[in-house]
Amino acid sequence: MKHLTEYSDPASIHALVAEIARISKRPARIMEVCGGQTHAILRHALDTLLPPHIQLLHGPGCPVCVTPSSYLDHAIAIAKLPDVILCTFGDLLRVPSNSSGDLYAAKARAADIRMITSPLQALDFARENPDKQVVHLAIGFETTAPANAMAAYLAKDRGLLNFSLLVSQFLVPPILRAICADPATAPDAFLAAGHVCAIVGSDPYVSLARELNRPIAITGFEPADILLGVLDVLRLFEQGKAGMINAYPRIVHPGGNPEALRIIDAVFEVCDREWRGLGVVPQSGLALRPEYAAHDAAKIFPAPPPSAAADAPQCPADQVLLGRLQPPDCPYFGTRCTPDHPLGAPMVSPEGPCAAFFLHRRGS
Ligand code: SF4
Repeated sequence: MKHLTEYSDPASIHALVAEIARISKRPARIMEVCGGQTHAILRHALDTLLPPHIQLLHGPGCPVCVTPSSYLDHAIAIAKLPDVILCTFGDLLRVPSNSSGDLYAAKARAADIRMITSPLQALDFARENPDKQVVHLAIGFETTAPANAMAAYLAKDRGLLNFSLLVSQFLVPPILRAICADPATAPDAFLAAGHVCAIVGSDPYVSLARELNRPIAITGFEPADILLGVLDVLRLFEQGKAGMINAYPRIVHPGGNPEALRIIDAVFEVCDREWRGLGVVPQSGLALRPEYAAHDAAKIFPAPPPSAAADAPQCPADQVLLGRLQPPDCPYFGTRCTPDHPLGAPMVSPEGPCAAFFLHRRGS
C-alpha cells in the first residue's frame, strides 16, 4: 500500500538505524508525547534498535491517561441522572475515577451510557430523543478538538438544547513547557505528534523549540517515521542546537488545517486545565466559549463535591507520564496492575504507556 508499506520497509529501517548509530555520540533522552507513537515504538521494538545511550521516554500523550479523576466523577454523576444519555468513546469506559468506580460499572447499573465513534452520533441521539439530555464526553488533544467543536457548533445552529459536552480538551505545548520546567528530569528532545500538528501546523513548533531550547521533530507513526524523527532530533542535539524539523511533511503543513483551526477558535477558548496526576497546568486546555454555555455540561450539571479519596495513591502514573519512571519499573506493573485489573489509567487505555509495555514487552 502506497504511503504505508514503504515506511515499514526493512531496508529503510536498517539504513535509519545505521545512520543514528553513526551520528549519535552522547547520551540522549528523547520523549514522544503521543500514545500512538508509544505503542508503535514498543510494537516494533524500535527502542531496542537504538544505541544503548539513547533512551526513549513516553510522555503524557495518552488523552485518557491525563483526563482527571474528578472529570470522571462528574461524568458518572451525570450518567446516573434520569433521562440522560451519556456518550463516550470506548477507551474511557474502564478508567477509574476517584470515588465512583468507572463508567463501565455505572453502565452495568443501568445508566444509559453509549459508546460512539464520532461526536456526530451523539448529536443524532439528541435529535432522536428530544425528551432526553444527551451529554458527550469531549476529551482529547488538539486532534479531537475540531470534531468536538463541530458537534457544539451544529447543536447551537440546529437549536438542539438537549445536547451538551463535558469538555476536558488538552493542549500539547503547555505540558511540554511544564515538563521542561525541571531541568533535572527534562528530556533532551521531543518527538511531536504528527496528528496534533496536522491540525495546528508545524509553525507553532518553530517558536516552541526555540523557547524550550531543545530539538523537536514532528513525527509520524510508522517505524521509519519514528526513526526519522529520532535521527532528526539527534542531528540537532549532536550539534548543540535547538530547532523544529518536520519529519512528517506528507501530512503536516506549516499552517495546519485552516478549517479545523477556524472551528476550534469559533467554539473554544484557552483555559487552565487539570491533568491527571500532574495538577492544574495554566492555559493548557480548551473550554467552550460563553456563547456555547447552553451546550456546556459543566454548567448545566453541577459537579459532585470533590472526593476526599486520593487519586489511586499507590499508582505512580504522574512519574510515568513525566518520563521519570518506565512502566516496568513500577512495583505494581504486571502483578497488582494489569489491563484486566488496572490500578491507574495508563494501564487501561489502548494508548497508555503501561498497557503498551504490558502488551508488547511483558516477560522480555
Ligand atoms: S503499572 Fe499500573 S500502578 Fe504502575 S504506573 Fe502504570 S497504571 Fe499505575
